[in-house]
Amino acid sequence: MSDQKMESDSGEVETFAFQAEIAQLMSLIINTFYSNKEVFLREVISNASDALDKVRYESLTDPSKLDTGKELYIKIIPDKASNTFTIIDTGIGMTKADLVNNLGTIARSGTRAFMEALQAGADISMIGQFGVGFYSCYLIADRVVVTSKNNDDEQYVWESSAGGSFTIKRDTTGEPIGRGTKIVLYLKEDQSEYLEEKRVKEVVKKHSQFIGYPIKLLVQKEREKEISDDEDDTKDEKKEKTTEEKKDDDSKKEADDESKAKVEELDEDEDDEDKTNKKDSDKKKKKKIKEKYTDEEELNKQKPIWTRNPEDVSQEEYAEFYKQLTNDWEDHLAVKHFSVEGQLEFRALLFIPKRAPFDLFENRKQKNAIKLYVRRVFIMENCEELMPEYLNFIKGVVDSEDLPLNISRETLQQNKILKVIRKNLVKKCMELIEEISEDKESFKKFYEQFSRNLKLGIHEDSGNRKKISDYLRYHTSTSGDEVSSLKDYVSRMKENQKDIYYITGESRQHVEQSAFVERVRKRGYEILYMTEPIDEYCVQQLKEYDNKKLVSVTKEGLELPEDEEEKKKREQDKEKFEPLCKIMKDILDKKVEKVIVSNRLVSSPCCIVTSQYGWSANMERIMKAQALRDTSTMGYMAAKKHLEINPDHSIMKTLKTKVDQDKNDKSVKDLVMLLYETSLLASGFTLELPQQHADRIFRMIKLGLGIDEEDVVSGDTDSTTAGKDDMPSLSEGDATAASAEASRMEEVD
Ligand code: ADP
Repeated sequence: MSDQKMESDSGEVETFAFQAEIAQLMSLIINTFYSNKEVFLREVISNASDALDKVRYESLTDPSKLDTGKELYIKIIPDKASNTFTIIDTGIGMTKADLVNNLGTIARSGTRAFMEALQAGADISMIGQFGVGFYSCYLIADRVVVTSKNNDDEQYVWESSAGGSFTIKRDTTGEPIGRGTKIVLYLKEDQSEYLEEKRVKEVVKKHSQFIGYPIKLLVQKEREKEISDDEDDTKDEKKEKTTEEKKDDDSKKEADDESKAKVEELDEDEDDEDKTNKKDSDKKKKKKIKEKYTDEEELNKQKPIWTRNPEDVSQEEYAEFYKQLTNDWEDHLAVKHFSVEGQLEFRALLFIPKRAPFDLFENRKQKNAIKLYVRRVFIMENCEELMPEYLNFIKGVVDSEDLPLNISRETLQQNKILKVIRKNLVKKCMELIEEISEDKESFKKFYEQFSRNLKLGIHEDSGNRKKISDYLRYHTSTSGDEVSSLKDYVSRMKENQKDIYYITGESRQHVEQSAFVERVRKRGYEILYMTEPIDEYCVQQLKEYDNKKLVSVTKEGLELPEDEEEKKKREQDKEKFEPLCKIMKDILDKKVEKVIVSNRLVSSPCCIVTSQYGWSANMERIMKAQALRDTSTMGYMAAKKHLEINPDHSIMKTLKTKVDQDKNDKSVKDLVMLLYETSLLASGFTLELPQQHADRIFRMIKLGLGIDEEDVVSGDTDSTTAGKDDMPSLSEGDATAASAEASRMEEVD
């Protein structure tokens, strides 16, 4: 990771190469034209605030962590003389390793994702959501120097002018910062607007007014001073010097103090004079001079938004708070601001975003999901105990009056108060979703983004399962481009229809063309199309809706309502095909559990259905796709298959005649295997030995093309295909060759 490594402990410089994608991102930030550069400030302030959160959290259990500085704040120092913009925080700071890792060498999934988003027309201001906000510094600076001090390490300086590398050195000469981070941005020529007080105030107000730590801005001020004539000379000199000193001094605060002290001194002088020369002073000429001095202004003085009365908070304020909380560039979709009183007291503010983050279901923990405060003191972010996993897209804050301040992550899990808060939050989330569902357009947007969360909710949250099931939407066999709720489906059910029919599969196209759907559709029943992997999990738990069973059309036990005549026909078919079913079962042996006459097929000769409690074909596909799965469970969980045959299909009818004529016809075995394998494929399964199936098909093709065994050219390299002597002949009249082929295949099997 280090390019030219040098000894660094003595304060020498080490050079590192940026991780490749980060380097790419930096040059993109530097070389692309963006007008919206002000977002850099939001990003650095947000990082500072996170760093302050961290040290405050540590100090809750170990107050000595603040020995290096008790005051928690962010300070901004624009300096025209050196054309630099400095931001200081007294947060947790970074160790040397942190600087190397966090600011340059560790790859993050957001880097690529953000560059792709930019290419697709995303705005630079979205950077914070992708976890690479720091690099937005290079929007306005061509050189960045980060000085940082963490309690566990010495003070280090990170520096980079981009160009693929950065340096780190121990800070042996710079002024000690105590604890925290100081970032100095050497502004590009045309970015001096950020040195203007007005501009900085405007940007902070716009993007960072709800930050929970004081943001102080160093401002230049001027005041008028009245002094008497005879003191004039010396004092003017003194003042001049003070302002000069200020310019040179790195630490503005000190200069400021000094300046204030000197002014006070002047005041005292005057007082003295007033007393001693009281009479003379009236006669003496007074003179007014202008005096420059620096001052700190706190830019975010409001009290936390959630402590205010909801009636006094505007939608704009909620939106601003939401954006600052989440780094989102868009407003929220919905918000709920409420307090709970009584045995337990807390306030909360919950938001539903407009979009799911790019990494919603990646293993990485969600940032800023719910922030926990205790009596206005920030305790921790991402408090998992406050929300079930399926609601991890909800953002917000919770401020409890009852929890102890020194609560640690370890004790959270057993905490009863937290459990009650969680229950309340979930309830409020349900209300929020209910409110969204009242507006069709909003709900559509919401559902597109978070349907998977709802489905996970059905799987996880038995208490709210019923409620959540009302929010599910599916395409159906009759819904066209629209989606339908289960409620609407039920309202359209036919009079004699008892169950809700559904099919799971890879895509809408897939399920639409599935053989399973055909009879059900033909009979006029509607089928729900469940095409997301998570649907399989969801439907396993859902089981019924409005007292109607959810029945998979690909599983055994599908009973379509039938009239007397149909029932009679099926009984007859069953009887008629009994012997064929038995023979087929014998041939397929353990590959299937049973072979039965179907009532769900129209144009396919047969299909594979799965038992009610085993996996469906789709589930088997999903499970096989999970690379890290323990394959030992595949065996007994794998779909239990039933072969259903279509008694009205010519293939089945002819096969039946063949078997009736000669029970031991050897070609039957080959045909049954082919039918079985083909149905597996058509029903959405994969073949365990696809080559065997392919060989069978090739033989069929040769047969179809009338290729005789004699015609096989020597270049035919298909080793498993029958050789010259045993080219199959599966034509009905030629049982001998087929039987030879069948026995050969027996060996292969
Ligand atoms: P993100 O903040 O989303 O993780 P950034 O690129 O903005 O992404 O920052 C990268 C990392 O650098 C942060 O996660 C944090 O560990 C560290 N960092 C940045 N700024 C500071 C700071 N002011 N104090 C301490 N650590 C910081």
